[in-house]
Amino acid sequence: MDKLISKLKILAEGAKYDVSCSSSGVERRNKGKLGNSRSFGICHTWSSDGRCISLLKVLMSNNCIYDCTYCINRVSNDIKRTSFFPEEIAKITYEFYRRNYIEGLFLSSAVEKNPDYTTENICKALEILRFKYGFSGYIHVKGIPNTSKDLMTKLGFLADRLSINIELPSEKSLKILAPQKNTKTLLLPMKNLNNQIMENKEEKKKYKASKNFLPAGQTTQMIVGASQDSDYQLLKTSQNLYDRFQLKRVFYSAYIPVVENSLLPAVNTKPPLKREHRLYQADWLLRFYKFRADELLSEVNRNFDLEFDPKINWALNNIHLFPKEVNEVSYDELLRIPGIGPKSAHRIVKERKFFKLNYDNLKKMGVVLKRAKYFLTCDGRYHGGIVIKPEIIKYKLGEMENDRQLSFF
Ligand code: SF4
Repeated sequence: MDKLISKLKILAEGAKYDVSCSSSGVERRNKGKLGNSRSFGICHTWSSDGRCISLLKVLMSNNCIYDCTYCINRVSNDIKRTSFFPEEIAKITYEFYRRNYIEGLFLSSAVEKNPDYTTENICKALEILRFKYGFSGYIHVKGIPNTSKDLMTKLGFLADRLSINIELPSEKSLKILAPQKNTKTLLLPMKNLNNQIMENKEEKKKYKASKNFLPAGQTTQMIVGASQDSDYQLLKTSQNLYDRFQLKRVFYSAYIPVVENSLLPAVNTKPPLKREHRLYQADWLLRFYKFRADELLSEVNRNFDLEFDPKINWALNNIHLFPKEVNEVSYDELLRIPGIGPKSAHRIVKERKFFKLNYDNLKKMGVVLKRAKYFLTCDGRYHGGIVIKPEIIKYKLGEMENDRQLSFF
């Protein structure tokens, strides 16, 4: 048992830099078997930089044959190496589940021996867990690029979600920092998986009893700040992945320097957490507000302003489009007003059918106007001050931001 615990320590440590797991989005009730899967929060932990992340998180092996410069598990790094046997990881998951420590599993792995060998071991572990222990809880696995298609298919029928981590958004960065990888070998399996997910959905419409293939879809992760890639490059890649492969999520991970290397930020550099936060906000705008990467950034303006969120920045850069009259503009245009989200936009569209909305009506409806008032008119009246100038709005919003921060103390 001691041996198993020390393996667990090493392999959980090796997995903590992967943020591509989160709540599953899958709801599954126990049908006489072990374990349920919940839509939100499978289990949680705190990453080394203080973020709360879901954790069912361990590596099958940290014995990697690759040498990605930014990675703690790379072959040239001098760390303790170990691997689980499939039965071991299945048993640990089962025991932890029974003790209520976890609700599911996030199983990742370094590339041990070769991609097929690694994926075969992951499949064996999941088969034992699913069929020997009857575990029907949530499982998120890491897909290893260059694995044969048959094995990936097998994995897709055993897991709920799969992520193939892009890590770096450009061929150029991959060449410099992860020369054994290339965009093609990362994107091809994503494409295949997406096709299989679509086919499975069609099949399930015809035959309800067909087996599920990755019901929680696929995700990926990109590292922020390890390479010279701009926010624009990262966001364009995300948009591409959402458009082409219907990814459920792209996760952004602020690079935590773990190695001294002239190609990487120095070890004492702080992880770019604010940049990561802005990318998450922008990603949200892509997924739920119908923004495109090209609207938020460009070849000239390549990185997000760290002071203001991407939606305010977009509005300030496009001030000629404002103010918008809330009684006239479409739902989609309402969504583009800073401070107005889908809930408020729906309310506005519903209420304005009956009468013209004024500022007080919006307040009573619960629309948060602190930001929005600079970008809208209500029944022809502007409430943001005398002139609509980006510098003035920026100044006022900046003051608001300072007040908010001071109020924490
Ligand atoms: S393949 Fe994965 S585990 Fe191996 S060095 Fe690269 S990032 Fe690290």
